[in-house]
Amino acid sequence: MINFKRILEIIESNKSFIITTHVNPDGDAIGSELALGYFLQKLNKNFYIINHSPTPENYLFLDEENLIKKYTPDFDEVILNSDVLLAVDFNTIGRTRSMSEILQKTNAYKIIIDHHRNPQNFVNEIFVDVETAATGILIYELIKTYNPDFIDKKTADALYTAIMTDTGSFRFERITPEVHLIAADLIGRGTNPTYIYNKVYNEITYEKLKLLGQTISNINLEMDGKIAYMVIDRKLLEQYVPNEEEFDVDGFVNYCLSLKSTLVGLLFFELKNGVKVSLRSKEKFPVNLVAEKFGGGGHLNAAGIRLDGEKLEEVIPRVITQIIEDLKNYERRAI
Ligand code: 5GP
Ligand code: MN
Repeated sequence: MINFKRILEIIESNKSFIITTHVNPDGDAIGSELALGYFLQKLNKNFYIINHSPTPENYLFLDEENLIKKYTPDFDEVILNSDVLLAVDFNTIGRTRSMSEILQKTNAYKIIIDHHRNPQNFVNEIFVDVETAATGILIYELIKTYNPDFIDKKTADALYTAIMTDTGSFRFERITPEVHLIAADLIGRGTNPTYIYNKVYNEITYEKLKLLGQTISNINLEMDGKIAYMVIDRKLLEQYVPNEEEFDVDGFVNYCLSLKSTLVGLLFFELKNGVKVSLRSKEKFPVNLVAEKFGGGGHLNAAGIRLDGEKLEEVIPRVITQIIEDLKNYERRAI
């Protein structure tokens, strides 16, 4: 159980804050940052939300005041002079990419608020609950502990988006009655679930839909279909979105799991200089443990790996071989 009173103590006794999250932020990352920002606004604190990556387009509707800034060294001064760093929805410094150096340098009091396993100790205090379905739930509890009236509509929208996206729209394993009760509370505060769902998932471009179609039609199977994997190389990507380093393909990998036979699904995404792997699983197969073997991490059923400087053709067989081995062990134990 997280000591929310302790986090509130830290917030109340300081003046200036930096909020940040991981590279390629998802709905939980952006929603949690904004809800926390709106909370600090109400407390009349000075704060900046600064991220390595720009906000994905489908989450911009949450940030009407344009509070989230993309990191440049121009922010170094303000990062160095802030009292507190609030790191949300991640737990290893490397995931802040270009910001990791300055975040290690600053004397700001650093705290992590997160729900991933194995936090790396680059901070002063860690507030982690790995049972929680989304970091947004922790931010909800935090604000509610201070004053439930502070959860106004824009805060509720941000938190609802965080929870909806990190639970696969209320489908994943860690769904509990409490998650639905929180969603109900947020809807009661004015959030419109249809509007949020459509903003997040139903505004993709024609090019992205075509890319999804191509990616699905090139799907590969291993171990009688227990493993399904998709590949997006630069050639395929650039057919649809020229010159993008990390085009947002959030959600693509989930199509691997729509096959009845599939226990593990993967998406290999070729970066300009490296490879990003997204892993998803059904039942209790721990993709986070596979990811950790390659320096990545995540949750039981959703994890990721980033291999800088490595080649797609080499990464695919290495990861697939590892998955086959782990899946065989998993099955042996399960029988
Ligand atoms: P995704 O595949 O959607 O990028 O990530 C799935 C999950 O794995 C998320 O919970 C994310 O935080 C985690 N994850 C993704 N990439 C990395 C990585 O490079 N390192 C670590 N530690 N976790 C990752
Ligand atoms: Mn999350």
